[in-house]
Amino acid sequence: MQDIPDEGQAAPEPSRPSIVAPPLPAYRDELHERVLGHPTLLGDIAHAVGGPFHLMYPDRVAHNIAAFRAVFANTGVAGAVYYAKKANKAACVVRTCAKADAAMEVSSLGELTAAMAGGIRGTDLMVTGPGKSDDLLWPAIRHGALIAVDALDELERIAAVCRPDMPAWVLLRVRPPASTSRFGLTETELSSALHSIDPDGSMLLEGFSFHLSDYEVTPRATLAAALVDRCLTARTFGHPASTISIGGGFGVDYVAAADWARFTENGPDQRWFHPGAEIADFYPYHFARPGADMLTDILGTAGLSERLRNAGIRLAVEPGRALLDRAGCTVFGVRSAKARAADAADPHNTAYRFLTVDGTSFSLSEQWFGSEYLPDPVLWPHDSTGSADPHEPTPSCVGGASCLEADMVSRRRVALHRAARVGDLLVYPNTAGYQMDSNESGFHELPLPPKIVLHEQYGYLRWTLDR
Ligand SMILES: *Cc1c(COP(=O)(O)O)cnc(C)c1O
Repeated sequence: MQDIPDEGQAAPEPSRPSIVAPPLPAYRDELHERVLGHPTLLGDIAHAVGGPFHLMYPDRVAHNIAAFRAVFANTGVAGAVYYAKKANKAACVVRTCAKADAAMEVSSLGELTAAMAGGIRGTDLMVTGPGKSDDLLWPAIRHGALIAVDALDELERIAAVCRPDMPAWVLLRVRPPASTSRFGLTETELSSALHSIDPDGSMLLEGFSFHLSDYEVTPRATLAAALVDRCLTARTFGHPASTISIGGGFGVDYVAAADWARFTENGPDQRWFHPGAEIADFYPYHFARPGADMLTDILGTAGLSERLRNAGIRLAVEPGRALLDRAGCTVFGVRSAKARAADAADPHNTAYRFLTVDGTSFSLSEQWFGSEYLPDPVLWPHDSTGSADPHEPTPSCVGGASCLEADMVSRRRVALHRAARVGDLLVYPNTAGYQMDSNESGFHELPLPPKIVLHEQYGYLRWTLDR
């Protein structure tokens, strides 16, 4: 990996090897492999769209739901899978969940409306989030949704709406012990709620919930066991208390263990990156026991399955990212490419290619958390359409189409398998969970990248707009 050839520019100063980030290739499903290997599919979609786009593989969501359900079947625990809707706005995901009879976790009127429009029944909704508006609470109660209460004033507002022919089903969201989270009720608040909800009234205390921001098994198992005990206590007050929800946070395994180990053992080394603010914190992109396996581990901790079965308690899970694992990718077009030669003004004095793509890092969210999306983009087509192009691994940084220095899609130097040309596509893998649209923005009046839905039909790949 040496200098960066680029016609029309002075040859870079010899001959210091470029510093690149260690490769982090993402796992590829058969469908994703077919998309990358297809001679025209990605090029045709890019031509039709005329800008960046997200490609969705909703069949994979159905597969991921089934994996969670298999854990419930194997352990004999009554369970319910609520898709955490904030992780991706695509209508095809809602429809896939509805067809699979899965439930949905929503926290705004927009999410509730989209869920119901896609076929989710009101009784299969869980409404969470802080500071719920009355505009959200009223239809939630009307449609029989489960409401995870975050503050005592919400209980008062729910009580003002529900009535015998329109009961409200509530969970009390518990703030984990020794936590400083802004979410959930403290011990004192929980006790006050337990005493204030009239067991003969129209508000039904269905159980308790939590959501943790880490990806650990033990704290979830421990807190779940405590919630079972809370249900048993609540029953002595005359409440139904037959559901606990352990929230989301089921890990996703993006890259192989050995690749992740190489990356983390040596870094992140700031010399891998185009200059800018230091990046220190990353999602754990390798996860040994992801998704449904993590649920197996939680249920296997300290006899939790047995406790749930014995107490007759239904366990709800609210995975977002894990249900979207390998359910899509994000495709940018290369708009321009320039050589950045070894340069004494660059503190790391290294040569690389700087690509500008036709979208922004708002469509690949991690930069907005001071982090970076690490599974490597793949350059498409594999062979350059231009003249003879050596397959020379080419260190490349990727910037967005905005006028902000900080708008970097990949700030680290990725070793693309060849030099990218204008018109090539960069395919970022496995982006359906949070990357695609959680921070999308109409900045610069750039259009939002559309979502394109891919299905196999009649033995070939067909695509349509998400709608
Ligand atoms: C965001 C969120 C989830 C989903 O979290 P993931 O990490 O995507 O699984 C579930 N429940 C609540 C209450 C949330 O806020």
